[in-house]
Amino acid sequence: MLEIKGLTARVEEKEILKGIDLVVPPGEVHAIMGPNGSGKSTLSYVLSGREGYEVTGGTATFEGHDLLALEPEARAALGVFLAFQYPVELPGVNNANFLRTALNAQRRLRGEAELDAVQFLKLARQATKKLSMPDDMLKRNVNVGFSGGEKKRNEILQMAILQPRLAILDETDSGLDIDALKIVSEGVNAQRGPNFSALVITHYQRLLDHIVPDRVHVLAHGRIIRSGGPELAHELEASGYASVIAEAA
Ligand code: ADP
Ligand code: MG
Ligand code: MG
Repeated sequence: MLEIKGLTARVEEKEILKGIDLVVPPGEVHAIMGPNGSGKSTLSYVLSGREGYEVTGGTATFEGHDLLALEPEARAALGVFLAFQYPVELPGVNNANFLRTALNAQRRLRGEAELDAVQFLKLARQATKKLSMPDDMLKRNVNVGFSGGEKKRNEILQMAILQPRLAILDETDSGLDIDALKIVSEGVNAQRGPNFSALVITHYQRLLDHIVPDRVHVLAHGRIIRSGGPELAHELEASGYASVIAEAA
């Protein structure tokens, strides 16, 4: 489903990704772990097409489409979704309108009928309920005045509404207390199935107790230096990144 080969990219003239090879088959959830500054967010931005991140080599295909050649909107319409590490506040933009506009833009690009306000609200209320989010979070401006945990929940609300085929979750667990972590994890697990894949970026093994990954990859200095099963996350938790990095070198 997602196939990345020899991907290199730079930001502001600085080479950050130094040759990423990664395959995420349909239906699988892969975790990416790694120290701060290793390029995890950069990888997620490059895959979603954020401006300012220049691909200098390699390929990334999603269901046979050359992702890197597509505009961010076209990637989203294919079902690629990024939950930001630092969700952006949008003053003056109503959360429900924002979500409906995003959903309908994708439906339009896919040739599907758009949802009217009533249809959308029904869908959105079901999603907020599942995520134990108060309904007023739909009425408020996007992320404005939201706590760190509420912002992360709002990213998962977006995911629940947009129903992506590939979700990239960039440190969605940071800022969540244990209860919120469970709810967010249930939100991700609810999406799991043969047509859903995810890249779950996290520092902590604790998230992976709730979202049990099929594979775990360690990203360090712009390269995947080791891959393994869920037990690799436990090993990292116990021994830290340094020993794995030293071993790879
Ligand atoms: P991670 O998510 O693994 O913590 P990032 O992908 O955010 O790492 O960052 C990787 C490296 O790229 C870091 O050294 C960071 O300082 C640098 N970097 C990321 N974004 C920018 C930017 N917009 N301008 C300059 N350097 C950046
Ligand atoms: Mg970081
Ligand atoms: Mg990051």
